[in-house]
Amino acid sequence: MGHEWMKARPGPVWQAFRRLVFICALSLACLAYSPTKPLYAQLPEDTYTVQPGDTLGSIAAQFDVTVGELAAANDLADVDVLNVGQVLNLPRENGSRGALFARPGDTVQSIAAREGLSADRLSILNRIAPEARLFPGQPVLLARDSPRPPMGLRFGAVRIVSVPSAVGQGEAGWLQVEASRPLALKAEWNGVPLGIWPLALRVDGGAGAAAGGEITIWGAYLPVPATMEPRDHQLRLSYEARSGVTVTRSFAVEVRERHFPSQQITLPAEQSDLLEQAILQAELDYLAPIWSQTATPVQWKQTFRLPLSSPFPTTSPYGIERSYNGGALQSFHTGHDFAAPGGSPVVAAGDGIVVVAEQLRVRGVSVVLDHGAGLFTGYWHLRESVVEPGAKVQAGEAIGFVGTTGRSTGEHLHWELRIYGAAVDPMPFLDSPLLSLLSEVGAEQGNEQGEVDRDEGN
Ligand SMILES: [Zn+2]
Repeated sequence: MGHEWMKARPGPVWQAFRRLVFICALSLACLAYSPTKPLYAQLPEDTYTVQPGDTLGSIAAQFDVTVGELAAANDLADVDVLNVGQVLNLPRENGSRGALFARPGDTVQSIAAREGLSADRLSILNRIAPEARLFPGQPVLLARDSPRPPMGLRFGAVRIVSVPSAVGQGEAGWLQVEASRPLALKAEWNGVPLGIWPLALRVDGGAGAAAGGEITIWGAYLPVPATMEPRDHQLRLSYEARSGVTVTRSFAVEVRERHFPSQQITLPAEQSDLLEQAILQAELDYLAPIWSQTATPVQWKQTFRLPLSSPFPTTSPYGIERSYNGGALQSFHTGHDFAAPGGSPVVAAGDGIVVVAEQLRVRGVSVVLDHGAGLFTGYWHLRESVVEPGAKVQAGEAIGFVGTTGRSTGEHLHWELRIYGAAVDPMPFLDSPLLSLLSEVGAEQGNEQGEVDRDEGN
């Protein structure tokens, strides 16, 4: 942990830093509705706090690295500008031969050649393509039994990365990134681009080059459908450094297995043709491009609300495996069913834009709302809808009435939540404030948080 360098700080700066850490910890704690504990960023052991009289050259000489390596590891645009109290990453090997930190221009291949190891083996061990350029300071494992490097290591302008260590099947994890300058951050979850958005700005109260500058807070969901294979999956972050080089960092996020019950459903004969794969697939092919978009900015501010006026009982929760008319298990339930009487008003769970309001064969009369940032909610089997595509709706606004249209065995509301097209359990979204809290981070900045001490590495 980084307590050594913290002690050397002057009082007011330290206070400001603690306040910042607290606000950060507070917002993250409230954001993390998933029962799994996120791994927060940790400052690496290999850092150095700039002292009066230091130059980049003197520091480089002290730690046996080049000025270029030091500048690259810290994304320094001007090697002549250093501030007392600024914390520098030291781009050196971490001591144990189990792992090392990449040098500027390194690839897995170049490290393998230098260390006399197999590039293929290193590539598999680190889940990095052999030819991929590594960012300076990126930890690289050399041996399987070496300890995993801390996940929170920042890279360049990216100061803090909060990644969930594990996400259960059917849940959504939350990724949060703080950057010290405007940049085009990209994220990929299991090879699929995430709709990562800059969500809030705040003034940096800490020390160092970024102090007084604006910190951009980015956020994105990591959707884990119920069917996602339970193992480590890869999250990649990248951005273009000032040098023009794209720096990329990979994180392993474990998908945890959850067991969902199964359910037998008997459909009347006249509905059985709707089970034909072609019909299901055609409808999915129609909807998938609609709910896989990430271009709409965030529309909702508050916690999602129930899509009904009162909490009607659940007839079928998210994730159950289903078989129809005695057949094999063939699908998992992509939403949550409420036993609401026919004609009950259905309301928007959050602010959004209507992107679907029409009758479909399987889903019946359907409404889909785009809440922005890749998040959509769907409302199926309605008796009728009362909104038109393109309309903006607010949370709580009526969008239709409960019915039993399409492939449905009785009056109920099926409510579904999609993130980048993946269906996850919508119910946790009724409890987590998510973005509303994040947008208040800036406003709460001035509050004195007293002596509350939080370990940012928990
Ligand atoms: Zn349903």
